[in-house]
Amino acid sequence: MFGPPGAGKGTQAVRLARTWAIPHISTGALLREAVRAETPLGLEVKAIMAAGGLVDDALITRVVQERLQQPDTKPGFLLDGYPRTVAQAQSLDEFMAPGPKGPDPRDPLVIVELFVPEEEVLRRLAARMVCSECGANAQDDRDFSSCSNCGGTMVPRVDDAEDVVRKRMEVYRRQTEPLVEYYGKRATFRRVNGDQLADEVTSAIVAAVDNVLRK
Ligand code: AMP
Repeated sequence: MFGPPGAGKGTQAVRLARTWAIPHISTGALLREAVRAETPLGLEVKAIMAAGGLVDDALITRVVQERLQQPDTKPGFLLDGYPRTVAQAQSLDEFMAPGPKGPDPRDPLVIVELFVPEEEVLRRLAARMVCSECGANAQDDRDFSSCSNCGGTMVPRVDDAEDVVRKRMEVYRRQTEPLVEYYGKRATFRRVNGDQLADEVTSAIVAAVDNVLRK
């Protein structure tokens, strides 16, 4: 699943992973966790993330492929925030290609673009709060006082500051939007309107994916 910052990928991914009982793999969350824990990966990516840039393709691809080797991904998985460049999409295609032992039971790769107008994205990012302890997003507009997941304090995300958001939007347009062209003609590609109530977006994604899997 891909879409601009603030399109609702994280919120939707949590719901969908629960619905389909598959792991939710958020590259942003994996990286934020590495930064929090000050691992070598975290130290390497901290400044890039804070500035709103993209982490190196080879590095993030290694992180994702390591995660996809875990047995819990066998029945399927939901990628949130990867791929984000055409080079990453090519790596994912190679990774998902049927091996010598026949097609991977996880096939097919279904691609969902969550699209939201820019002014709505900017409005959402200005209001977004995340948990300082576990990184979870606030799940609705009303409860910013404490995290519904762990009770931690809610704070703005460092990369949601206005100048960083501008940079992330520009990075999205330049580096990620070309995925529309890359995936556009595939039978497994769907665009979903993310500018609706969260429940409506979830239903629309489930319907789009069902539609792909039925064909
Ligand atoms: P997100 O939570 O998906 O908005 O990701 C937060 C930040 O993590 C991004 O602004 C990037 O700096 C980094 N990041 C996450 N996923 C990727 C990726 N697939 N490729 C490069 N950088 C990424």
